[in-house]
Amino acid sequence: MVGFSKDIFIQSLVEDKYLCQLCEKVLCDPIQTYCGHRYCETCFEDLLRNNDNVLCSSCKAEGIMDTILSVQQMYHDKAIQRELNIQHVRCLNKGCDWTGSFEDYRVNHILTCEYEMIQCVNRNGCNVSIQRGNLSSHLEKDCPMRIVKCEYCTVEVPFTNIETHLLECPKIPEKCKLCGEFVPREMIEQHTDTKTGDCVRKMIACQFQNVGCHDMVEKSKMAEHNTRSMGEHLLMMLQFIISLMAMVRSTRNKIDEVENVRTRINEHENQIKQLEKNEETLHHKMTEMVSAAQNENRNGIITGENKHLADKHEQSTRALNNSMTVVNKKLATCEGVVAVLNNQVEKTD
Ligand SMILES: [Zn+2]
Ligand SMILES: [Zn+2]
Ligand SMILES: [Zn+2]
Ligand SMILES: [Zn+2]
Ligand SMILES: [Zn+2]
Ligand SMILES: [Zn+2]
Ligand SMILES: [Zn+2]
Repeated sequence: MVGFSKDIFIQSLVEDKYLCQLCEKVLCDPIQTYCGHRYCETCFEDLLRNNDNVLCSSCKAEGIMDTILSVQQMYHDKAIQRELNIQHVRCLNKGCDWTGSFEDYRVNHILTCEYEMIQCVNRNGCNVSIQRGNLSSHLEKDCPMRIVKCEYCTVEVPFTNIETHLLECPKIPEKCKLCGEFVPREMIEQHTDTKTGDCVRKMIACQFQNVGCHDMVEKSKMAEHNTRSMGEHLLMMLQFIISLMAMVRSTRNKIDEVENVRTRINEHENQIKQLEKNEETLHHKMTEMVSAAQNENRNGIITGENKHLADKHEQSTRALNNSMTVVNKKLATCEGVVAVLNNQVEKTD
């Protein structure tokens, strides 16, 4: 702190010895150099900061000598402080009529004077200068950096940011564009959701849409729509039931057809088994006959009856093979039909 204003002295003339040689004000924490000149302690420190060979300007002005100032060659001037302390002074703050000793002034009054201009102490960075006496009411009511609570979401922000906060506050009431009701901003989407929202003016599908009514109706007017369209809705229901019954009937028919085909397949399978058995028997007989004929040939005798039997056997073998082919073809067709029918039954399910 540099020195005090000369104007605090009630007697108008202030002696030179009470003044700092640098700031030319009333000494604050006076020190005296070895050349006998006085400076405020902070002024002296400022003078020597970053400078090695500082000359005492007062000595120079008086033309005495070039005195190099140094921290080692100075002392705290308690004598001049004592003299100053008993001087009668006044407070210069506007509105303050305090008077008293200089000591009381510098030790107590300037630290407590209600009229002293100070910087707002709000740590969030308020730059306002105010009189000390108004500080508490400033912090409470006026400080732009005072913390306020959002009345909608209770978040705490500096007063100066509240408007920005309100622009994005999730809980501030917003007017629903459909029904005009006020809903918290974060709820507006849910409020108008076509499935789960509770907005009375949102459009929803008619409850009879599955039986054919494709009207979109305002939620609040659904009962009215149901009353007005009762006849149409009933007709739709009737048509729906009729088509449902027809579907049941055709499904039942298809199931019957499948059952029939299954029975026929079983029959064919049995026939095939029988034919296979017959063929085996014939084959067996033929082998016997062939070996008998070979025996007779060896004896040089081929009877007419044997030749006849061989021809007959060959004929029946050919006929048997033909009917086998036919049966196999039929079987393939049946399997095709079953596959198609099964497919349709699955679809109607
Ligand atoms: Zn000074
Ligand atoms: Zn000097
Ligand atoms: Zn004062
Ligand atoms: Zn403030
Ligand atoms: Zn808020
Ligand atoms: Zn609404
Ligand atoms: Zn409807």
